[in-house]
Amino acid sequence: MLGLMQDWPLLCHRIIEHAATVHGTQEVVTRSVEGPIHRTNYAEIRDRAVKVSQRLDRDGIKLGDRVATIAWNTWRHLEAWYGIMGIGAICHTVNPRLFPDQIAWIINHAEDRVVMVDITFVPMLEKIADKLPSVERYIVFTEKAHMPETTLKNAVAYEDWIAQADGNFKWKTFDENTAAAMCYTSGTTGDPKGVLYSHRSNVLHALMANTGDSLGANAGDTMLPVVPLFHANSWGIAFSAPSMGTKLVLPGAKLDGASVFELLDTEKVTHTAGVPTVWLMLLNHIAANRLKLPHLRFVVCGGSAMPRSMIKAFVDMGVTVRHAWGMTEMSPIGTLAALKPPFAELQGEARLDILQTQGYPPFGVQMKITDDAGKDLPWDGKTFGRLKVAGPAVSKAYFRVDTEILDKDGYFDTGDVATIDQYGYMRITDRSKDVIKSGGEWISSIDLENLAVGHPAVAEAAVIGIHHPKWDERPLLIVQLKPGQTATREDILKFMDGKIAKWWMPDDVVFVEGIPHTATGKILKTALRDTFKAYRFPNAAA
Ligand code: ADP
Repeated sequence: MLGLMQDWPLLCHRIIEHAATVHGTQEVVTRSVEGPIHRTNYAEIRDRAVKVSQRLDRDGIKLGDRVATIAWNTWRHLEAWYGIMGIGAICHTVNPRLFPDQIAWIINHAEDRVVMVDITFVPMLEKIADKLPSVERYIVFTEKAHMPETTLKNAVAYEDWIAQADGNFKWKTFDENTAAAMCYTSGTTGDPKGVLYSHRSNVLHALMANTGDSLGANAGDTMLPVVPLFHANSWGIAFSAPSMGTKLVLPGAKLDGASVFELLDTEKVTHTAGVPTVWLMLLNHIAANRLKLPHLRFVVCGGSAMPRSMIKAFVDMGVTVRHAWGMTEMSPIGTLAALKPPFAELQGEARLDILQTQGYPPFGVQMKITDDAGKDLPWDGKTFGRLKVAGPAVSKAYFRVDTEILDKDGYFDTGDVATIDQYGYMRITDRSKDVIKSGGEWISSIDLENLAVGHPAVAEAAVIGIHHPKWDERPLLIVQLKPGQTATREDILKFMDGKIAKWWMPDDVVFVEGIPHTATGKILKTALRDTFKAYRFPNAAA
């Protein structure tokens, strides 16, 4: 027997429709790419998103067609986002930090018909445009006054383009399993892989993100997603904030400490989300200028492990820290480290111990750890295993790739190695390809990195496994010092000594000018392995 409830497909544009109807005057503030602060609200965003839909429809864009965006977090990007999805086209967010050749590969693989682009990235696109046969037109996210001279095919300023629509147009309706958006994983090894979200998965993911134990914001709060729209839907915030009527503050192209601080301060931001590198820049700016952020209450941090020293810096500011783990294939939320009983009352170091875990999953994400043969491992907080996940907002396949990516029980292997404790708190120990295998045991590169960045002179640290004749692999610690600071190999090892098991201690420390990063801000271990491929430990006796 079927239930007698309404057939109401979970479509993404219902979210902006709801925001416009119930929270229409709620503000969306942007530091525009052109410079000035721009203010609009959810009602205007909906109206202009409808015009985007109408205009795309007139240009012949149909259900299932891909429309790319290469853009910062701005109100125009958000309008275009809902406008593209509102006719059942697929909003393909391209990460502009990738190499131009990778961008060309991705656009060709997705067969994007239209590319919407910020003025910042026009010169880069001009260089690859002749390799992009599927693209029929480029729409530049600006108005006539700032429209650059360009060789891009059929280029038009976004404002001129939507001015040709009168807004007398209705969103389309279709099955909730229709594809809504796509995002390629950065592909540090092999070709990038296209993750294809559905309307249903995005709406369900927004609901998962909307609780106090997830992103923690409400209609009375102000959220600044530093995490870009091209990084897994800005961790879902592009859907969850409008669905709750949360005020949005969008940082545009300026993500440095001073610029982010200024917006947090002037817009009285209560909630913000970003990767550790962004928070490092912000905290350095705050410390160097002895600043305060009295309105900030909640910082979400994910994408890479959040160092303990960073968690403590925010806790000391009176801010709730929400360490989160996830991945593009999970829309992206996987787990969040909220403090639940019996941990809520913990203080000091014991509290930091829990805040530093990657947390537990919201309803809608199932996880397990297994050994290499696929056998389930216990949730005892000690046993490491391959972390696998399942849920309605987790990928079951990649776009146009035939390989099976789920195990026999329908779980997706995240490529991470983790422990899970009896309360469901998960700790990432490593990426399976980065874990250091020493004498048949595993050493967590992440734990060593987190510890090393706690040294006051260290700006960033990376650990890679180097071949060792006796132990197979041993950890090499690679350190970038803060500007103007000094520390020796011995200073750093002394700082780490006693805080980890003896056999986890790095065999050597080397200093570098800069640590390379991937396009999503993670340490690029493949490049470091390449740089240090000839390195041998000084005392490694055969
Ligand atoms: P990419 O494709 O560049 O890896 P994702 O953003 O999808 O982009 O990366 C997901 C991966 O990032 C995870 O599988 C995990 O290895 C790492 N990651 C994300 N959040 C955390 C975290 N809080 N702690 C440790 N690692 C994390």
